[in-house]
Amino acid sequence: MSFLYNTWWGPILYVIVCGHLTIMCTSLFMHRSMAHQGVEFHPVLNWAMRWWLWIFSGMSTRQWVAVHRKHHAFCETKDDPHSPVIHGWFQILFFGVRYYRDAYQDEETMEKFTKGCPNDFIERRLFIPHKMLGLVMLLLIDLLIFGFWIGPIVWLGNVLWVPFWAAGVVNGLGHVIGYRNYKVRDASHNLIPLGVLLSGEELHNNHHRFPASAKFSKKWFEFDMGWVYIQTFKLFGLARVKVVHD
Ligand SMILES: [Zn+2]
Ligand SMILES: [Zn+2]
Repeated sequence: MSFLYNTWWGPILYVIVCGHLTIMCTSLFMHRSMAHQGVEFHPVLNWAMRWWLWIFSGMSTRQWVAVHRKHHAFCETKDDPHSPVIHGWFQILFFGVRYYRDAYQDEETMEKFTKGCPNDFIERRLFIPHKMLGLVMLLLIDLLIFGFWIGPIVWLGNVLWVPFWAAGVVNGLGHVIGYRNYKVRDASHNLIPLGVLLSGEELHNNHHRFPASAKFSKKWFEFDMGWVYIQTFKLFGLARVKVVHD
């Protein structure tokens, strides 16, 4: 593993692979499984994804799910927590996390939209009250692997990955640019047909048309990386698909 700190491309590869895995956990666990109940994973896999998300993103499942369900319920209205149609794409692309924070601080939102979310000891005592502790641990890991000069830069890459790619690109641009397969009431678009980097979340118009579907690709030319992961987990008995629209 010495290539990680011995080559110029090692740290870049590390940030991309970790970022991809963080988006994969967000898409599979928080989004498709918890928020929309389209798929169920083995408890061990759920456990692993929750820990990964705590360390690499500092996001709480309950808070993420509440904000996301509210987005679907009130899409492109003033009650939508992060509509680029209402707030402007620039705001959501670069400051999307701020809109998340404002939304989950509202008690009514948390009460209304968190049914079925994890609320066990570890969620209540660690993941929610000590959200930033995971990111502090990640800083220590990055410093250990990459040293005092490159470590903090790598950490910034890790930490900014989800705010930019998910809260920014998917929530912001995914309601502004791209193409549409379905004329839904909201402004959702598929960003590109190949959903690889963002684990299929690029296919945002398909998702708004069939929110509960565990599979996001619809046309022959579309590819959903998240669905490939689900199929792979299924092979090993680690996933059970509950809803799918083909
Ligand atoms: Zn959306
Ligand atoms: Zn959704």
